[in-house]
Amino acid sequence: MDRLAICPGSFDPVTFGHLDIIQRAAKVFDHIIVAVFNNQSKSPLFTVEERMELLKEATCSIPNVSVDSHSGLLMDYAREKEAQAIVRGLRAVSDFEYELQITSMNRKLNENVETFFIMTNNQYSFLSSSMVKEVAKYKANVSDLVPKVVEDALKEKFKSM
Ligand code: ADP
Repeated sequence: MDRLAICPGSFDPVTFGHLDIIQRAAKVFDHIIVAVFNNQSKSPLFTVEERMELLKEATCSIPNVSVDSHSGLLMDYAREKEAQAIVRGLRAVSDFEYELQITSMNRKLNENVETFFIMTNNQYSFLSSSMVKEVAKYKANVSDLVPKVVEDALKEKFKSM
């Protein structure tokens, strides 16, 4: 049986930290669906469609990765896709409390889907989409933090702001 895992997140926008997690997960599972969830409380910069497009371009060289979006509960989506696992990245202790709460709730909702955590690559431990947006807004160089397509998309977004 093929092992399918979902990498859920806001990906607003995708960074090298996300890509590192996706690439490593893709070596362990047969197929990965990177699923964009719209977390309105985070006031996104990019639309869901834009985020999906950037993810598709950034992951096009990984054959067993596809990109999708969902607006409901992650566990309903996992059931619909018949996924066995959720993969999340962990950066620092500060991520732990939040992830523990979500994972406990998700297990209550669907105990057949296991959540796996991949530790961040040290070089990306302080990298987040929000930090990238913050510095890109002030025209700082983000080429070592995000793929070229994202760098260009950020320039375009902030051009008119
Ligand atoms: P969410 O809003 O669900 O936290 P994010 O887009 O911020 O979505 O993150 C998606 C996933 O990628 C999360 O599991 C997050 O911990 C992980 N992640 C984000 N940045 C990094 C990074 N630099 N290193 C490792 N994992 C990361």
